[in-house]
Amino acid sequence: MHAFSSHPLRTIGGFECLLCGGMAAPGKTICLPCKSELPHLNHACPTCAQPMPASHACPRCLRHPPPFQHCRAIFHYRGAIRHQIHRLKYHNDLAAAGLLGNLMADTLGGRRPEMPECLIPVPLHPTRLRQRGYNQAVEMGRPISRRLDLPMDLSRVHRIRPTESQQKLSAAARRKNVRGAFQVLAKPPYGHIALLDDVMTTGATTAELAHCLSKAGVRRIELWVCARAANP
Ligand SMILES: [Zn+2]
Ligand SMILES: [Zn+2]
Repeated sequence: MHAFSSHPLRTIGGFECLLCGGMAAPGKTICLPCKSELPHLNHACPTCAQPMPASHACPRCLRHPPPFQHCRAIFHYRGAIRHQIHRLKYHNDLAAAGLLGNLMADTLGGRRPEMPECLIPVPLHPTRLRQRGYNQAVEMGRPISRRLDLPMDLSRVHRIRPTESQQKLSAAARRKNVRGAFQVLAKPPYGHIALLDDVMTTGATTAELAHCLSKAGVRRIELWVCARAANP
């Protein structure tokens, strides 16, 4: 039996921590102990968000500046965050999207002097979209869009080529794997956008999409990702 299944407050309902099932304060989605254990990414390369001992440019970005100007990654890809992303991507748990999107909005909101004009979630190929039933980046984007008052543009870019999973590929193979994967359908009327994705590892996918949007005339492109896995 699950440790919390006989918790008396479950029946009263409402404020149950979405991570541990324990009791959360009224109106909160997670409890204080879970909140304090979230793997926030505090020091990273400002360009690609590669975790670093201090916040300065990583050697890779110094050698080859990527086709985007800034990456904001909220968490390390581990612990409860990794677990929730797995729930969202492989177990049809849409509630995880709301939780992760709201946790991102908690950190993203109110801090930025200059906000992008819109949010573009990294699109899935139609075949993958049919298999999963939803695009996890779009679902995570909903609470961010609402709370930061930032429109999501879902019609501008499409994934026109299915790509094999990037998980077991080297950095160079990842770049090759995603080349030509995206198409920008109409000239974007934006000067500054944020691309949104769930996890970033080498950034090959988002870099390819940023490259397409930059060629289409978007001058300032940043990435917002929920979790950053360290580059191998
Ligand atoms: Zn908890
Ligand atoms: Zn970097």
